[in-house]
Amino acid sequence: MKKILFVGAGMAALVAAEKLGRSGKYEVTVLEKNARENISYDWHDDVNRAAFEKNGLPMPLEGTYFVKRNWTFIPPSESVEVTLDIPEEELDLSIERRKLAQQYISRAEDVVDFRFSTQADSLIFEGDRVVGVRAGEEKFYADLVVDNSGAMSKLRAQLPEDSGVTKQPNDDEIFVAYRAFMKSADGAPSPKNTNRAYLKHLGETGISWSILDPSGSVNVLIGRVGSLPKETFIGAFRALKASNPNISDEIVRGGIICKIPIRHPLSRMVADGYVAIGDSAFMTIPMIGSGIQNSIDAACILADVILKNDSPLKQALWEYQVRYYLEKGADHMGVDVLKRWLLSAYPKDLDWLFEKGVVGEKEMEAGATGQLVKLSFSDLLSKLKKGISRLPLLLKLNGVIQKSARAAKIGRRIPKTFDEKAVCRWQRRVESLYR
Ligand SMILES: Cc1cc2nc3c(=O)[nH]c(=O)nc-3n(C[C@H](O)[C@H](O)[C@H](O)COP(=O)(O)OP(=O)(O)OC[C@H]3O[C@@H](n4cnc5c(N)ncnc54)[C@H](O)[C@@H]3O)c2cc1C
Repeated sequence: MKKILFVGAGMAALVAAEKLGRSGKYEVTVLEKNARENISYDWHDDVNRAAFEKNGLPMPLEGTYFVKRNWTFIPPSESVEVTLDIPEEELDLSIERRKLAQQYISRAEDVVDFRFSTQADSLIFEGDRVVGVRAGEEKFYADLVVDNSGAMSKLRAQLPEDSGVTKQPNDDEIFVAYRAFMKSADGAPSPKNTNRAYLKHLGETGISWSILDPSGSVNVLIGRVGSLPKETFIGAFRALKASNPNISDEIVRGGIICKIPIRHPLSRMVADGYVAIGDSAFMTIPMIGSGIQNSIDAACILADVILKNDSPLKQALWEYQVRYYLEKGADHMGVDVLKRWLLSAYPKDLDWLFEKGVVGEKEMEAGATGQLVKLSFSDLLSKLKKGISRLPLLLKLNGVIQKSARAAKIGRRIPKTFDEKAVCRWQRRVESLYR
């Protein structure tokens, strides 16, 4: 294998391309539809520092990040607030995304050929095998195409039906989010809890948040599952402002609508000559849509597997998917089960679970960091004591938690070597959990 082509200069591509180029074994090209100066988002997002430390990657540059503060979760009635108590040294860093992307491009450009303002339109096939990409009039041939072009990847959708790769997510697996940083309203008091996330805001399927930024502006997100109609947005923004008088109408940064995957990872990420990574493999934490650390981790696994197996065939690339599932994907399958239940739960049930302390800090921290919510027998007993009056609801919640653990177990049973029949069987088990 000689040529590797990345589509999309997301964090996954920037990390993996640099490692592969640096090895001196491959010619590595990255196609990115945006101009270099417009790459990524012009705002900051949260990433755990372990993403850099554990993978031996450079930390973001001084002055391009700050330590974020603990989340406060608020149920639909807004009757209680649950604030996490993660120690400062374990809190995520909120990093300027465009600056981080620029830092990583600079680091890689002596060994990677970056083609900015180049949008890939379609895959080129030889039989069923992917051998390159068309971008406008140009054709880029490669032994392996790495698809890092996001949740709605149009390349993934062009793979043959029998590749086993899901072409498009369902509507309820995508979060449509408006994000803006608003100027702080004059004279408004600062909230005690600065990072406020509203679950099932207004009883709708989604979340909204209002975060007082250290810069003084207010970071606002309004996200709903499947779509964000204008009336929904207007109602949510109005309600968010009523609960957070520090939000003004003046946009300082952002003000755009984006799509974030909120589902379990692809049950097949590889085909001959093709591999999906990052959002295009649905690697975000299903509960909250954070995907930067997962993309970085996956990039390190992928580079490692390519360097070791040196083949673009699915049999060799499968090891990448296995390792990702064992490290993260299986747990995210479990978190997806919980998320689906949360979205379908009655708002008043959610209110009650929060008000009675049945869902508390421990459960919210697990879901938000992509870990399984575990419920031992003694946990169940203590929850029963708190809420015996709503036994059916508690039993339902217990059932969902058990199903979530089962889902993760199925995820971990991924066939460890590639055998078409065994992989198809496993994929059917995975997909049937979410039907
Ligand atoms: C509002 C919002 C808030 C978020 N907050 C967080 C957070 O706090 N923490 C967190 O971890 N994650 C967060 N995420 C999710 C995070 O952005 C993604 O999970 C992460 O960026 C995925 O990285 P990636 O490697 O898949 O590439 P992406 O960052 O998705 O990059 C894909 C790249 O591909 C390019 N591209 C797309 N199509 C083509 C094409 N056809 N040809 C060429 N180039 C193409 C795009 O221009 C883009 O540069 C947030 C997302 C949004 C929208």
